[in-house]
Amino acid sequence: MIFGRRGRKPIRIPVKAVEQWKYTTCNYCSTGCAIEIGLDAQGRIVTSRGHAGADVNRGKLCIKGLLEHELFDSPGRGKVPLMRNKAHETFAPASWDAALDRSAAEIKRIQAQYGRDAFAVVSTGQLLTEEFYTLGKLVRGQIGTNNYDGNTTLCMASAVSGYKRSFGSDGPPGCYEDFEHTHCLMAFGSNLPEQHPIIYWRLKEALEKRKFPVIVVDPRVTMLAQFADIHLPITPGTDVVLLNAMLHVIFKDGLEDRAYIEQHTQGIEALRALVMSSDYDPVHAQHVCGIDEDRIRQVARLYANAPAAMSIWTMGINQSTHGSDGVVGINNLNLVTGNIGKPGGTSLSITGQCNAMGTREWSSCSGLPGYRALEKEKDRKTVAEFWGVDESFFPKKRGMTQTDIFPAIEDGRIKGLWLVATNPMTSMPNQPRIRKAMEQLEFLVVQDVYEDVESNEYAHVYLPAAVWAEKEGCHTNTERRVNLTRNVLKPYADSKPDFWIFKEMAKRFEDRHKIHFADRPEGAFEEMKLLSVGAGRTLDISGMSYDRIEAARGIQWPYSAERAAADEARVGPAGALEMKQRQDFKGNPRLYTDGVFQTDTGRANLIALPFIDNNERPDAEYPFWLNSGRVVEHFHTRTRTGKIGNCNKFSPTPYMEMNPDAADELGVAHGAYVRVVSRRGDAVVMVQCTHRVPRDMLFIPFHFHDCVNRLTLGLLDPYSRQPAFKQNAARVEKIDQREAARLNLERRAF
Ligand code: SF4
Repeated sequence: MIFGRRGRKPIRIPVKAVEQWKYTTCNYCSTGCAIEIGLDAQGRIVTSRGHAGADVNRGKLCIKGLLEHELFDSPGRGKVPLMRNKAHETFAPASWDAALDRSAAEIKRIQAQYGRDAFAVVSTGQLLTEEFYTLGKLVRGQIGTNNYDGNTTLCMASAVSGYKRSFGSDGPPGCYEDFEHTHCLMAFGSNLPEQHPIIYWRLKEALEKRKFPVIVVDPRVTMLAQFADIHLPITPGTDVVLLNAMLHVIFKDGLEDRAYIEQHTQGIEALRALVMSSDYDPVHAQHVCGIDEDRIRQVARLYANAPAAMSIWTMGINQSTHGSDGVVGINNLNLVTGNIGKPGGTSLSITGQCNAMGTREWSSCSGLPGYRALEKEKDRKTVAEFWGVDESFFPKKRGMTQTDIFPAIEDGRIKGLWLVATNPMTSMPNQPRIRKAMEQLEFLVVQDVYEDVESNEYAHVYLPAAVWAEKEGCHTNTERRVNLTRNVLKPYADSKPDFWIFKEMAKRFEDRHKIHFADRPEGAFEEMKLLSVGAGRTLDISGMSYDRIEAARGIQWPYSAERAAADEARVGPAGALEMKQRQDFKGNPRLYTDGVFQTDTGRANLIALPFIDNNERPDAEYPFWLNSGRVVEHFHTRTRTGKIGNCNKFSPTPYMEMNPDAADELGVAHGAYVRVVSRRGDAVVMVQCTHRVPRDMLFIPFHFHDCVNRLTLGLLDPYSRQPAFKQNAARVEKIDQREAARLNLERRAF
């Protein structure tokens, strides 16, 4: 195609001879955008596009999704398994049999020598759901270690914990469509335009149709805060104080929804007694949370008077020592104002990774599949019978989280580790401590798409995994929508789908239990469907099938077999549907519409949340709050986006936002390199002077290796064990610019 202005050099767009479009779901963030990949007659990928008929993204993609098809042959991909020699010096290529045999033998040796739980497994939020289910079956049913977790402890554990404490079960109750019905939106620590650009576009689209107030709670003037009607620049880590103070105003003014509280909740007395104490009177609370008393009253009244109001949040709430309490506080606010389970009234956690939900639902990391608990005898029995294992093989309570596993390596309780698609050498707080722990492991196996992932430096065995559409299976997005990725092309070189790797590993543990593993991901999905049914279960996927999911461009659970049969009777079989009919298969957009919750009594818990101030705070030696977060171009530790030309080009270097007044005071220029120092370590970054951060705050993106997580403390939330990445103290030192530039060039060469 040629176009352009007359007399000027024409612009040519190459004709992409697409023979076939294959359906996939984006493998980065939790938005869950549907992507079609275009293949030519030879089966080569020539382009990709957002799926216009998908309700989530309606044809749109962010930069990461647009360029995702460049992943398949990006630099650093693992081609063959690798094993280190005895002296742990060099990696050498190995066959799959040799690498798996050695891994299984080392797991068994460590378990025999030190006990079953001395070997730990840490997984991810980025596999396909069928792979999570299969890994759970292997770890819980055959390997039998209780120290098994996902890296989702670093991002969504507080949301999970808060939902369970309030509603008796995990599972976000709302959906994106709620933007179209709400009359007031409050966003806590969530910078949608950069973290979840397509969800942000859905919000903007709703706002263009019908204006409603947007209130953003964030210590930074984020992009979302810039678009907000009201920005509350809260003191880091004090969200619970703000939420309690809002409830103080709501009760004092009599704005609570008494009928809803009476019929659907329990615990109101203790909650009311706490928030009505003078500590949470806005007159006092303002000095702790940093929001003035009038503003607190204004937003409380705005929220409570709205016919429907909703809250969203991301890491600003979760990554805190009060993360779980922050989530419960948001749920308290919505329960007290009757804003759960109705259009536009909800508590919606905006999840991080593409399939963080899938791991929560099916991986057995924190329990057993289908939101079942190790602590419940009935659940242990159901799963043991279904898998054909001895029930006593299951532990009776959950083991360590990822954040407890590393200290246990330090003190010798854990001797071996299997990392699956996660990179703690960049993602965990307090890197100097993590590095020492990794050095102590007797055996480490790293399973990852990329062999140059930093954690592989410590591995004894490396297993190269296939990526995204080199595999087939499902993701669940933030709004409980299960969506499908079709297998588009063969795995790169001799890499293998994670599903295959788990099944092959399982064969080496058949001496413990001989369990049936499905041949294909679709077989595992059919198995999960059987486990999803049962009286009162919200996580019911029994009405879904790969074909139905693709036809509907994603279906939200619960979606029962009865509901699917009724839908088909009404509009015909999924495969034959017209575009407009496909929406009839979209499932259930909201949970708890009947006000019945997953607690023993069926009532939601209102929980009193006294505030305990245990954050590291700035002081004379370390005078800045150090905050961390994301940029739109990168995903997590850049193992993928760091290899994609334009993602890396637009965001090539670690930088630090610093208030211009603070920079002036220290004699630091915009664009200069500085050393940032905390009690844990130091990092070199380039200064970007901006009023997005207040004078006493620094902000550094967390994606870069050897950067912000050398500085973070990572105190843990007592309920979720999620680290506080965002509340640390640091100072800034000037350094030699030539030396700093050299260091930075080395890093960019990565
Ligand atoms: Fe992928 Fe998230 Fe971007 Fe959508 S918003 S294209 S899911 S990274």
